[in-house]
Amino acid sequence: LPKAYEGSRPSVWVEYIQLAMEYKPLNLGQGFPDYPPPEYITDALMQVASDGNLHQYTRGYGHPRLVQAIAKLYSKLIGRELNPQTEVLTTLGAYEALYAAITGHVDVGDEVIIIEPFFDCYEPMVRYAGGIPRFIALKPKSTDGTTLSSSDFVLDKTELESLFNQKTKAIILNTPNNPLGKVFTLEELTLIANLCKKHNVLCISDEVYEWMVYEPNKHIRIATLPGMWDRTITIGSAGKTFSVTGWKLGWAYGPSNLLFNIQMIHQNSVYTGCTPIQEATAIAFEKELGRLESDECYFNSITKELEPKKKYMATFLQETGFKPIVPEGGYFMMADWTPLEANVDLSSESDQYKDYRFTKWMTKNVGLQGIPPTAFYGVEHKPLGENFVRYCFIKCTCIYTRSNCLSLRSP
Ligand code: PMP
Ligand code: GLN
Repeated sequence: LPKAYEGSRPSVWVEYIQLAMEYKPLNLGQGFPDYPPPEYITDALMQVASDGNLHQYTRGYGHPRLVQAIAKLYSKLIGRELNPQTEVLTTLGAYEALYAAITGHVDVGDEVIIIEPFFDCYEPMVRYAGGIPRFIALKPKSTDGTTLSSSDFVLDKTELESLFNQKTKAIILNTPNNPLGKVFTLEELTLIANLCKKHNVLCISDEVYEWMVYEPNKHIRIATLPGMWDRTITIGSAGKTFSVTGWKLGWAYGPSNLLFNIQMIHQNSVYTGCTPIQEATAIAFEKELGRLESDECYFNSITKELEPKKKYMATFLQETGFKPIVPEGGYFMMADWTPLEANVDLSSESDQYKDYRFTKWMTKNVGLQGIPPTAFYGVEHKPLGENFVRYCFIKCTCIYTRSNCLSLRSP
């Protein structure tokens, strides 16, 4: 492998999907809904499939009907007119948008600040570009063990300030955060924004869970903060927005000078996205644009659907003996599993980190799969994730997990 790729190994997704195929547990690991997406979305794809004109290459920087729809939506949301040609790019999932944003801006030796726990691909993407990740962990406000909400996990202002220097190129923000479910407050975003402006730093804002935010929390787009539009690239995902993760369609929006670099990476690696998927997603966006204020709008109804599942999950985890961290957004819940330590046998697994041993033991012996959160930390801070497990609660199967979990209570 080239030097920047040295040390690469199969990710937690590769390993745990393999494990799930082998042991067939209730899979609350990888995040995706286990039920069909809204019917109008699958209808749109059927309609597109039967149109003979929509099966060839489309415009490289984004299918025209889709970039129009995305520009129209976000123009409303951020209160500024977006140019669909130059300020929006569609990509193969948010993954490609992240990859192109990082590769298109990070030079060899540049530092990139990553907030832990983070969606695991950020670190290798920064390293592949020759950049140096600088990590800062969200830490619980109190250490008395009563932490209950993702809002209890905060950034230390002084520590964050100390990471910014002349070499800092970018900070990667993820709100709502995966895996913690933290929704950054205006105050927290203002702190980050002020540091970005002071040190002339770019903000790459991963907002794929923007529509899954629980009352009374509000999703704030950092691009809307004073002086931030010019230095922010915001990333979204149709997979999360419309519950179609297999469509692998994402986007980035931001000022044309920043988007240009991303377009270049996209043009010379992928060139163009899938035409029928983009057309169907455009139809879906157009439908939602017509009913943004209504309860029927999927952007509003998805959170309402998730709310009882979130409550259910928190309750049964608590009943079983876990200590859940109730998320403010997204569809994952982290929980401290260590109160159950006496009831599990981790000696049969050989992984370095306890959360890997716990989740593997659970997959094999209790038939329930979760994700080990140390995958979401840089090597120095991995111990911070060891006592936790991440469960995905958008899945219907989460309602069957209770009986499995309750068996954990007696050793
Ligand atoms: N960012 C975050 C925080 C994610 O959880 C995911 C997984 N959906 C992605 C980016 C990648 O999204 P996509 O499936 O659209 O590539
Ligand atoms: N975003 C999803 C999750 O966090 C899927 C990630 C993946 O499969 N790479 O579970």
